[in-house]
Amino acid sequence: MFQPSRGNVPPEHNENWGQRVRDVHEIIVHCAATPEGRHVTVDTIRGWHKSQGWRDIGYHYVIYVDGTVHAGRPVEQVGAHVVGHNAGTIGITYVGGVAADGKTPKDRRTSAQKTALDRLLRDLVRRFPGVRRISGHRDYAAKACPSFDATTEYRNLVAEVRAEKGSK
Ligand SMILES: [Zn+2]
Repeated sequence: MFQPSRGNVPPEHNENWGQRVRDVHEIIVHCAATPEGRHVTVDTIRGWHKSQGWRDIGYHYVIYVDGTVHAGRPVEQVGAHVVGHNAGTIGITYVGGVAADGKTPKDRRTSAQKTALDRLLRDLVRRFPGVRRISGHRDYAAKACPSFDATTEYRNLVAEVRAEKGSK
Protein backbone atom coordinates (compact mmCIF):
# COMPACT_ATOMS: atom_id res chain seq x y z
CA MET A 1 0.00 0.00 0.00
CA PHE A 2 1.20 3.45 -0.86
CA GLN A 3 2.15 5.43 2.23
CA PRO A 4 3.71 8.63 0.97
CA SER A 5 4.17 10.26 4.29
CA ARG A 6 4.90 7.51 6.71
CA GLY A 7 5.84 8.80 10.06
CA ASN A 8 4.68 12.35 9.73
CA VAL A 9 1.20 12.56 8.28
CA PRO A 10 -1.26 10.41 10.20
CA PRO A 11 -3.62 8.77 7.70
CA GLU A 12 -6.69 10.23 9.35
CA HIS A 13 -5.72 13.69 8.22
CA ASN A 14 -7.75 14.81 5.27
CA GLU A 15 -6.58 16.41 2.08
CA ASN A 16 -6.40 19.88 3.53
CA TRP A 17 -4.25 18.89 6.47
CA GLY A 18 -1.15 20.39 4.92
CA GLN A 19 -2.63 23.84 4.64
CA ARG A 20 -2.94 24.05 8.38
CA VAL A 21 0.63 23.17 9.23
CA ARG A 22 2.69 25.20 6.78
CA ASP A 23 2.04 27.48 3.85
CA VAL A 24 3.52 25.69 0.84
CA HIS A 25 3.36 27.08 -2.69
CA GLU A 26 5.85 24.94 -4.55
CA ILE A 27 7.38 21.46 -4.60
CA ILE A 28 10.99 21.17 -5.72
CA VAL A 29 12.42 17.89 -7.04
CA HIS A 30 16.01 16.76 -6.49
CA CYS A 31 18.24 13.78 -7.08
CA ALA A 32 20.54 12.44 -4.40
CA ALA A 33 23.41 12.54 -6.93
CA THR A 34 24.29 8.96 -6.14
CA PRO A 35 25.71 6.73 -8.89
CA GLU A 36 23.40 4.30 -10.61
CA GLY A 37 23.16 0.97 -8.91
CA ARG A 38 23.97 2.37 -5.47
CA HIS A 39 21.37 2.26 -2.75
CA VAL A 40 21.38 4.85 0.01
CA THR A 41 18.93 5.32 2.85
CA VAL A 42 17.37 8.33 4.53
CA ASP A 43 19.80 7.82 7.40
CA THR A 44 22.77 7.91 5.04
CA ILE A 45 21.63 11.18 3.50
CA ARG A 46 20.84 12.54 6.96
CA GLY A 47 24.41 11.73 7.92
CA TRP A 48 25.77 13.66 4.93
CA HIS A 49 23.69 16.69 5.79
CA LYS A 50 24.48 16.58 9.49
CA SER A 51 28.17 16.38 8.69
CA GLN A 52 27.72 19.75 6.99
CA GLY A 53 26.41 21.12 10.25
CA TRP A 54 22.68 20.87 9.42
CA ARG A 55 20.34 19.83 12.16
CA ASP A 56 18.57 17.18 10.07
CA ILE A 57 18.25 15.82 6.54
CA GLY A 58 17.38 18.70 4.21
CA TYR A 59 14.72 16.87 2.13
CA HIS A 60 11.20 16.05 3.21
CA TYR A 61 10.91 12.84 1.19
CA VAL A 62 13.32 10.33 -0.29
CA ILE A 63 12.27 7.90 -3.03
CA TYR A 64 14.36 4.75 -3.07
CA VAL A 65 15.28 2.82 -6.21
CA ASP A 66 12.52 0.31 -5.48
CA GLY A 67 9.91 3.08 -5.50
CA THR A 68 9.28 3.16 -1.77
CA VAL A 69 8.77 6.64 -0.32
CA HIS A 70 10.46 7.53 2.94
CA ALA A 71 9.96 10.52 5.18
CA GLY A 72 12.92 12.78 5.78
CA ARG A 73 12.56 16.05 7.64
CA PRO A 74 8.97 16.41 8.89
CA VAL A 75 6.97 18.20 6.24
CA GLU A 76 5.67 20.62 8.88
CA GLN A 77 9.19 22.04 9.12
CA VAL A 78 11.00 24.20 6.60
CA GLY A 79 13.54 22.09 4.73
CA ALA A 80 17.09 22.78 3.58
CA HIS A 81 17.30 21.89 -0.10
CA VAL A 82 17.45 25.03 -2.27
CA VAL A 83 19.29 28.16 -1.15
CA GLY A 84 16.81 31.02 -0.91
CA HIS A 85 13.78 28.81 -1.65
CA ASN A 86 13.26 26.71 1.45
CA ALA A 87 10.44 28.71 2.98
CA GLY A 88 7.17 27.80 1.30
CA THR A 89 8.51 24.73 -0.49
CA ILE A 90 8.72 20.96 -0.04
CA GLY A 91 11.86 19.11 -1.16
CA ILE A 92 11.69 15.61 -2.64
CA THR A 93 14.73 13.65 -3.72
CA TYR A 94 15.09 10.38 -5.56
CA VAL A 95 18.05 8.07 -5.05
CA GLY A 96 20.24 8.16 -8.15
CA GLY A 97 20.75 10.91 -10.66
CA VAL A 98 24.31 10.40 -11.86
CA ALA A 99 26.00 7.75 -13.99
CA ALA A 100 28.22 4.99 -12.62
CA ASP A 101 31.19 7.37 -12.79
CA GLY A 102 29.65 9.26 -9.89
CA LYS A 103 29.56 12.64 -11.65
CA THR A 104 27.84 12.65 -15.05
CA PRO A 105 24.19 13.71 -14.63
CA LYS A 106 21.91 10.90 -15.72
CA ASP A 107 18.20 10.43 -15.29
CA ARG A 108 18.23 6.90 -13.96
CA ARG A 109 14.86 6.96 -12.26
CA THR A 110 13.42 3.47 -12.28
CA SER A 111 9.86 3.06 -13.47
CA ALA A 112 8.95 2.40 -9.83
CA GLN A 113 10.53 5.71 -8.86
CA LYS A 114 8.71 7.58 -11.63
CA THR A 115 5.40 6.12 -10.51
CA ALA A 116 6.12 6.88 -6.86
CA LEU A 117 7.19 10.43 -7.60
CA ASP A 118 4.08 11.11 -9.64
CA ARG A 119 1.85 9.73 -6.88
CA LEU A 120 3.68 11.58 -4.11
CA LEU A 121 3.44 14.87 -6.02
CA ARG A 122 -0.29 14.40 -6.55
CA ASP A 123 -0.80 13.49 -2.90
CA LEU A 124 1.06 16.60 -1.74
CA VAL A 125 -0.74 18.89 -4.19
CA ARG A 126 -4.02 17.62 -2.70
CA ARG A 127 -2.81 18.10 0.86
CA PHE A 128 -1.35 21.54 0.25
CA PRO A 129 -3.94 23.57 -1.65
CA GLY A 130 -1.52 26.49 -1.95
CA VAL A 131 0.86 24.58 -4.23
CA ARG A 132 0.94 26.24 -7.64
CA ARG A 133 4.14 24.94 -9.15
CA ILE A 134 6.44 21.93 -9.36
CA SER A 135 10.02 22.60 -10.31
CA GLY A 136 13.51 21.15 -10.19
CA HIS A 137 16.52 22.30 -8.24
CA ARG A 138 18.23 23.35 -11.46
CA ASP A 139 15.61 26.03 -11.98
CA TYR A 140 17.22 27.85 -9.04
CA ALA A 141 20.90 26.92 -9.17
CA ALA A 142 23.64 26.22 -11.66
CA LYS A 143 23.26 22.48 -11.12
CA ALA A 144 22.00 19.53 -13.15
CA CYS A 145 19.88 18.33 -10.22
CA PRO A 146 17.53 16.46 -10.56
CA SER A 147 19.03 15.38 -13.92
CA PHE A 148 15.76 15.88 -15.80
CA ASP A 149 13.44 18.77 -16.56
CA ALA A 150 10.93 18.50 -13.73
CA THR A 151 9.16 21.74 -14.62
CA THR A 152 8.29 20.41 -18.08
CA GLU A 153 7.57 16.84 -16.98
CA TYR A 154 5.07 17.96 -14.33
CA ARG A 155 3.78 21.03 -16.13
CA ASN A 156 0.17 19.85 -16.08
CA LEU A 157 0.10 17.97 -12.80
CA VAL A 158 -1.12 20.74 -10.50
CA ALA A 159 -3.92 21.69 -12.87
CA GLU A 160 -4.93 18.03 -13.24
CA VAL A 161 -5.17 17.57 -9.49
CA ARG A 162 -7.07 20.83 -9.01
CA ALA A 163 -9.55 19.74 -11.70
CA GLU A 164 -10.36 16.50 -9.87
CA LYS A 165 -13.95 16.05 -8.89
CA GLY A 166 -14.65 17.52 -5.51
CA SER A 167 -11.40 19.43 -5.37
CA LYS A 168 -11.49 23.00 -4.17
ZN1 LIG B 1 19.09 19.30 -5.61
